[in-house]
Amino acid sequence: MPLTDPRNVYEIAVLPGDGIGVDVIDATRPVLERVASRYGFAFRASTHPGGAIHYRDSGAALPDETFAAAREADAILFGAMGWPDIRYPDGTEIAPQLSLRVGLDLYAGVRPARAIPGMPGALADPRAAGIDFVLIRESTEGLFASRDTGTVEGDAVARDTMVITRGGTDRVVDFAFRLATRRKARGRPGSVTCVDKANVFRSMAFFRRVFDEVARRHPGISSGHHYVDATALDFVRRPWTFDVLVTENMFGDILSDLAAGLIGGMGMAPSADIGDAHGMFQPCHGSAPDIAGQGKANPTAALLSAALMLDWLGERHNDDRLMRGARAIEAAVDGAFADGGLRPFEIGGGHGTAAIRDAVLERL
Ligand code: ATP
Repeated sequence: MPLTDPRNVYEIAVLPGDGIGVDVIDATRPVLERVASRYGFAFRASTHPGGAIHYRDSGAALPDETFAAAREADAILFGAMGWPDIRYPDGTEIAPQLSLRVGLDLYAGVRPARAIPGMPGALADPRAAGIDFVLIRESTEGLFASRDTGTVEGDAVARDTMVITRGGTDRVVDFAFRLATRRKARGRPGSVTCVDKANVFRSMAFFRRVFDEVARRHPGISSGHHYVDATALDFVRRPWTFDVLVTENMFGDILSDLAAGLIGGMGMAPSADIGDAHGMFQPCHGSAPDIAGQGKANPTAALLSAALMLDWLGERHNDDRLMRGARAIEAAVDGAFADGGLRPFEIGGGHGTAAIRDAVLERL
């Protein structure tokens, strides 16, 4: 691929946040440095405060300077934010990641689920070794649209409203089809499944209608529909048959945790939140206060999120070096787990953050 935008230095805003967010980001830095020097690209990582502990100490969960740095950077690498007993005065949780999603219009929640050879997943069926799908969660509307506007009337009735717009659906479905096209070029089947509940809700029938319109613009990719309840069943029964799936915000929230469980737990599940102008990359897990600072966190999800970041940056800037760096991190993770000897604490093993980081570094 021609290097039409061989940047000298990529700016990365790093927001470690709370708890094991700090632990796993610390483990990710040397891995990024290693691939940068091996593939000949440079990045400048600036670290910025934010999160629940920062809110407790300073009154700001996401300081303006942190938001500005995230907006200005080429990409955002995020750890985890939130802490159970630190809350806003109204009792809600500190979750600056939601403010970043909305503020930077990160509408596509990318949740890959790929079985890593040697890492035991939740399913005994040997075909589970072939799990390799990506769930795309719409992240700006759906049922979460009423996050701040839901009502409780007279302590008797509560209402939250599902909002599906043509524009919001079109762009996220189009994203899913473009992703399926890229994956197809790498040997995947090239199919997108619309996950909905179109048999019951008008909002979901509308979502499906817009999906079908977008599908017609991508004739090289096959498309299908699956009800969300049947999808939950088939994530357990035959998850290896899916390629790319796209769904509404709340359905995606639930299904993505199920997907993480399939491949060995939250510590193995990376994610990306992508918009037209910005990309944020973070492990699916939260701050895990029970193991924070003890060296027990599995950094694999963060490492694979860093790989997603390099892949996205490389594609965006037409810079092959970053894409090769992304593949190298994935291959090093696969290599580290391949012989079955590396067992994170999360699944009852004895390997912590440093041991897993070093096993990956060794293969780079
Ligand atoms: P959130 O609400 O922010 O998603 P949560 O408290 O629901 O967070 P997590 O913080 O993701 O959930 O973690 C749930 C549990 O899973 C943790 O208490 C921890 O024991 C385990 N866990 C999560 N991530 C990891 C990891 N990277 N390595 C090891 N164990 C983990």
